[in-house]
Amino acid sequence: HPPFDVHAVRRDFPVLQERVNGKQLVWFDNAATTHKPQSVIDRIAYFYAHENSNIHRAAHELAARATDAYEGARERVRRFINAPEVEEVIFVRGTTEAINLVAKSWGGQHVGEGDEIIVSNLEHHANIVPWQQMAAAKGAKLRVIPVDDSGQVLLDEYRKLLNDRTKIVAVTQVSNALGTVVPVKEIVELAHRAGAKALVDGAQSVSHMRVDVQDLGADFFVFSGHKVFGPTGIGVVWGKREVLEDMPPWQGGGNMIADVTFEKTVFQPIPNKFEAGTGNIADAVGLGAAIDYVNKVGIENIARYEHDLLVYGMAQLGAIPGVRLIGTAADKASVMSFALDGYSTEEVGHALNDEGIAVRTGHHCAQPILRRFGVETTVRPSLAFYNTFDEIDRLVTVVRRLAGQRRTR
Ligand code: PMP
Repeated sequence: HPPFDVHAVRRDFPVLQERVNGKQLVWFDNAATTHKPQSVIDRIAYFYAHENSNIHRAAHELAARATDAYEGARERVRRFINAPEVEEVIFVRGTTEAINLVAKSWGGQHVGEGDEIIVSNLEHHANIVPWQQMAAAKGAKLRVIPVDDSGQVLLDEYRKLLNDRTKIVAVTQVSNALGTVVPVKEIVELAHRAGAKALVDGAQSVSHMRVDVQDLGADFFVFSGHKVFGPTGIGVVWGKREVLEDMPPWQGGGNMIADVTFEKTVFQPIPNKFEAGTGNIADAVGLGAAIDYVNKVGIENIARYEHDLLVYGMAQLGAIPGVRLIGTAADKASVMSFALDGYSTEEVGHALNDEGIAVRTGHHCAQPILRRFGVETTVRPSLAFYNTFDEIDRLVTVVRRLAGQRRTR
């Protein structure tokens, strides 16, 4: 039985009580975004009702409350990913903005003509396009770690890609399209041995497994609040102090300066140097509350329970005639991508929606990896800790019915 009370957890998430097409909602679109527990919703409302102010630059009481709440959230993030120092945690809009910040600021300074950037075949477009844009601007080259037929990266091929022109290696920890858990610690170590920096995209990992940035050893770790039961519009860049201190700011404006004259601006130390303008204060506070919630359930408990759910779901789906599972690596989290013979992915998605079951169908902003498997789209149920075995049974029942109707269509 599960290491926590799943039904008690489900009662904390108001959206999970919704009905869709007369059925109790099943939310299997967690890789796209997760739902928010009442404590997160309440925390944001409390901020606006009792603490709302701009931060860091006023003598009044509410400025102090808002600053405390915002900086308290930063400390929660630090502990959540075991960062050494709270100043290394920078709030941004999300993973996309985080990677753009690193590509523009670090890449702008350190990547030149003929240099190389390595990503994997598994990456989300957010971890491809910013590097591609930067490479095009600099005359640098984007190189790609291939994957095997299970969807796992080929480390030997990666070793061959590394050379003294490699400036940075940017890889996802968990694939949003296939669920592959990538051996990022090893990838980071090899990058460092080649003299390159390493960025880990944690958008799909932080809600499913313990992340310790000191253990990973990467230079940058990035994630989005909305995929870890927090609000949209808030995310994190963690970077090593010495790397961040060496980087130029990427946006200029208020909050990030120490002194401005028309001749010259002196910037604030990190993290403010990278937080120009009024940030998303309330949602940072909401993210802090989401982390509190995850800590209460326990990330190890979550990982253990989700593993059992995933193994069960993959076996059930894989046993249906005509189902092709895409992404069958031994180490996976959350995602069960598949195609069903005789049906478009949209048809499967609509049939599931008719039964109140929400899945993503499409390319999942990861076209290169789907094309590696010869498809343009998949059906992608993705799990979170509030999902149940019963919900998987409901999904499997619909897919099995469609599979059975295939011949008579
Ligand atoms: N990387 C990965 C692995 C993702 O799954 C996502 C979101 N699907 C992103 C980056 C982009 O995150 P966001 O849209 O929150 O910026």
